[in-house]
Amino acid sequence: MSREQQVVARARKAFETGRSKSLDYRIMQLRNIQRLITERQKEISDAMRKDLNRSEVTTQMFETLGVEHEINLIVSKLKEWAAPRPVEKTVMTLTDTVYIQPEPLGVVLIIGAWNYPWALTLQPLIGAIAAGNAAVIKPSEVCVHTAKVMEDLLPLYIDKELYPVVNGGVPETQELLRQRFDHIFYTGSSMVGKLIMEAAAKHLTPVTLELGGKSPCYIDKNCDISTACRRITWGKYSNAGQICISPDYILCEASIQERVIAEVKKSIKDFYTDNPKTCPDYGRIINQRHFKRVMALLEGSTIAVGGETDESACYIAPTVLRDVKPDGKVMQEEIFGPLLPIVTVSGLDEAIKFINKKEKPLALYVFTHDNKVIQRVKEETSSGALLANDCLVHYSVSSLPFGGVGNSGMGHYHGKFSFDQLSHMRACLIKKLKMEGINSMRYPPHTLKKLGWARFFILKSGDMGRFGRRALISILAVVAAVVLQKCIF
Ligand code: NAD
Repeated sequence: MSREQQVVARARKAFETGRSKSLDYRIMQLRNIQRLITERQKEISDAMRKDLNRSEVTTQMFETLGVEHEINLIVSKLKEWAAPRPVEKTVMTLTDTVYIQPEPLGVVLIIGAWNYPWALTLQPLIGAIAAGNAAVIKPSEVCVHTAKVMEDLLPLYIDKELYPVVNGGVPETQELLRQRFDHIFYTGSSMVGKLIMEAAAKHLTPVTLELGGKSPCYIDKNCDISTACRRITWGKYSNAGQICISPDYILCEASIQERVIAEVKKSIKDFYTDNPKTCPDYGRIINQRHFKRVMALLEGSTIAVGGETDESACYIAPTVLRDVKPDGKVMQEEIFGPLLPIVTVSGLDEAIKFINKKEKPLALYVFTHDNKVIQRVKEETSSGALLANDCLVHYSVSSLPFGGVGNSGMGHYHGKFSFDQLSHMRACLIKKLKMEGINSMRYPPHTLKKLGWARFFILKSGDMGRFGRRALISILAVVAAVVLQKCIF
């Protein structure tokens, strides 16, 4: 038996004890994660600095604060979310109890990403815990230090049998994927996402795939270009562009390209000084492999801003590329680094065509004063999320589902969406062994008369709804009485 097999078997055994289902137990585990974040902030931040040169303030602001917020929200709402959800009844089920009961799925595999490893591993985990599941946690091996801290700390705070951590690389992930899970929650590239889905199909395991892609950013010439560029600069160069919802490239008319370049340049200087390399708020590329991958994307491009690099430090300066050709190398795959290509278009029509020729993105950004432009982009394109006049911030809104569509992913999470995503919505209909007369309509022999009554009950029930529940019960009672007395069937 492999180590991974043993871990999954232990998690299943722990799930079968039923302890993960108690709401109090779920809440206790969630509070323990909150305690971990508070008590171990230093270890968390030190690892993040080593992995991505991220400062302690940035780690708290853009990583652990969001997790704490989600925990607070879930703890305050869990009883409500986990309760039976009554549903509308039909005339046929009027005297029954009809509801949806959210129930745990079982053992969930969570495969995290490295760019925001705490947020992208713990957020699915707290969703899994909230929904009453066991979860096997596989942090990304790419953020070496953080993965180790997670492996060391999580078992000290949460039930290590129900929520074990497995560290390792591709072979370990592949071995995990050979096991049977009740759900797989994967965050990472679309390419690996396909492998995950293939492995999941062998056990008919449902998946949530939080993937990436090229998120476009259209700047309308009639907008406050200065503010737009400040927000885009923040969205693009945070975490050195290693964010799944980073604006990947800009689409704008040629007449505003120089202005956009100048404004982005100004914002880079405002945020990261003249020398971003020495600025504590500017990150590094995660490793040499990704450094080389990002550098290779520069081939054939014209640099308008930045371009300085230091391979030994995995440093790439905030960089803007002008007059990028639609078929240029940098436009062929998600950049996931601090390069911002500008592709010029003749206007909104061409921008929409350009976007629609590519895979559906995770996020789509439009900057404009004109509501009609926003409306057109909304109606004529598709993406995981649409943002007008800002970048990234939808991620922090727990009442919005976070996830992709098409090539950018399937399923969604955050807030109640996490709870629902990792629950089974069980349909429950509880009848009494009474009112049998009304059922004779569905028992053989099937006659035209019965069909007539069935049509009345099924098709007219909508019309009857306006009389209200009490009136319906009275009508039903009368009909049932008639049925029983006269044996019309
Ligand atoms: P990746 O897909 O290469 O790796 C992530 C995980 O997959 C790791 O744990 C790794 O062990 C595993 N893995 C890699 N190759 C595998 C294989 N052949 N078989 C089985 N498992 C394998 O992720 P990456 O490229 O390092 O991450 C960047 C991508 O993730 C970008 O596309 C980005 O947009 C996306 N992303 C998406 C989100 C989101 O929330 N939608 C968040 C962060 C990153």
